[in-house]
Amino acid sequence: MMKEHLLVIFPHPDDEALGCSGTIASYTSRGIPVTYVCLTLGEMGRNMGNPFFANRETLPAIRKKELENACEHMGINDLRLFGIRDKTVEFEDEEELAIRIKDVIEEIKPSLILTFYPGYGVHPDHNACAAAVIRAVETVAQKNRPTVYCVAVAKNSVEVLGEPDVTNDVAEYLDQKLAAIASHQSQFHAISKKAEKDPKVRERFTKERFWTYQF
Ligand SMILES: [Zn+2]
Repeated sequence: MMKEHLLVIFPHPDDEALGCSGTIASYTSRGIPVTYVCLTLGEMGRNMGNPFFANRETLPAIRKKELENACEHMGINDLRLFGIRDKTVEFEDEEELAIRIKDVIEEIKPSLILTFYPGYGVHPDHNACAAAVIRAVETVAQKNRPTVYCVAVAKNSVEVLGEPDVTNDVAEYLDQKLAAIASHQSQFHAISKKAEKDPKVRERFTKERFWTYQF
């Protein structure tokens, strides 16, 4: 059996928080190593905190620190920053990016990858990231190929892709998930506050849904 190792690949710090952080915590809590590849620092983000505590110059360092804090709450100790400029992932050479991702895959031999569903990520960076991940995984020999769980956020996701085939109940890891979300203070102040007050929001956070990518 393949040794378990989870590889998380997203373009922005915070992409992991709402849809995956409970699942990630469920892996780290079982002692399964998790590597997180984050392509950018989200430095073009429009949110500067509420009240503002960031500006265009300080945002990258702030978001890096927020991501490191989130990783700590999720139990991730292998964070890799690819240093691509935010909002330009879609202009990266897809093959080059796929090769960088493939290098990580060959190094850590993940059993499972979490990323966006190509075409259903809404943001162009999300779709470009997902497309490069799929391209990289396609080149792995079938017997060694990791499973890929995709997060689909487009409104028509269920209509087109059907219901997600994986639903993880992460209630047990909700505290870690809320802490990971709250770590991204510059971006998630409002939702974080809302979750504190509204049990319905917390209830929603206990389910994380994925579509397994069919190669
Ligand atoms: Zn994003």
